[in-house]
Amino acid sequence: MTGVLNGRVAVVTGAGSGIGRAITLRFAAEGANVLAVDRDAEGNAETAQLARPSPGRVDLCACDVTDATAPDDVMKACDDAFRRLDILVNNAGIGGARPAHDTDDADLDRFADVNLRAAFRFARAAVGEMRARGGSIVNMASVFGLRGFPGSSIYSATKAALIGLTQNMAADYGPDGIRVNALAPGFIETPLTAERIATNEWFVDAMVGGTPLGRVGQPEDVAAAALFLCSDDAAFITGQVLAVDGGWSTTKFRPPVDG
Ligand code: NAP
Repeated sequence: MTGVLNGRVAVVTGAGSGIGRAITLRFAAEGANVLAVDRDAEGNAETAQLARPSPGRVDLCACDVTDATAPDDVMKACDDAFRRLDILVNNAGIGGARPAHDTDDADLDRFADVNLRAAFRFARAAVGEMRARGGSIVNMASVFGLRGFPGSSIYSATKAALIGLTQNMAADYGPDGIRVNALAPGFIETPLTAERIATNEWFVDAMVGGTPLGRVGQPEDVAAAALFLCSDDAAFITGQVLAVDGGWSTTKFRPPVDG
């Protein structure tokens, strides 16, 4: 570890599991102090426990990101704990969407609330904190926000909207020194995808079989990309969508048949 985030303060949502946990651990290992936000208090506490040996400190904030007061509460908790905010990773999200004809209004609202509305409100609140000194926001999109894929209707729509938000906010807040980028993970092995990996052979084949690098991604793959986007190495990068997908979204890959 190189300490590239020494002295920085980050808020990571969805830090109690999967990709958010890996980002929290990597940021803390690189010297950042992190406010880990999740509605799963137990998972979040486990993340903090895992971060114990790191140079950065991990504080916990148990909240549902869709709560009306969540963004303000989290910004206040961050200010109370660390007195500044340099990085926001809008990672909390839900999956398991279905085709449009099988998606009722309640599902529509649920996905929009968690995956888009909460991320918008957190980004808006973070900009208020970052405007004086600059900062970096990373929104967790998905390759399904870049490409159509069977059965992911409202999930894809929320992730595509996040990409639109990323590009717009990059334009609005670049002059304030705030960089806004998105990550588009492909198929990553986390609790969110565990059931599909175990039970849906077609899905695994469509994702891993269509990946030139030939494997499922790990949360640490995404954490490494988040670290890059939030580090000074990415100082001239904003408004971008970085796919972390082993080449899935940019190729029409099928494994060659021998002979
Ligand atoms: P995960 O393992 O389920 O972790 C997500 C975490 O966010 C969980 O701890 C979850 O808590 C929390 N969370 C969900 N809704 C929340 C809310 N309303 N308020 C506070 N916390 C909430 O999922 P993951 O695979 O790491 O996914 C993280 C992000 O990456 C998501 O935005 C997802 O869409 C995106 N992504 C994942 C993949 C993939 O293949 N895994 C691919 C592309 C994009 P609960 O357990 O209580 O729900």
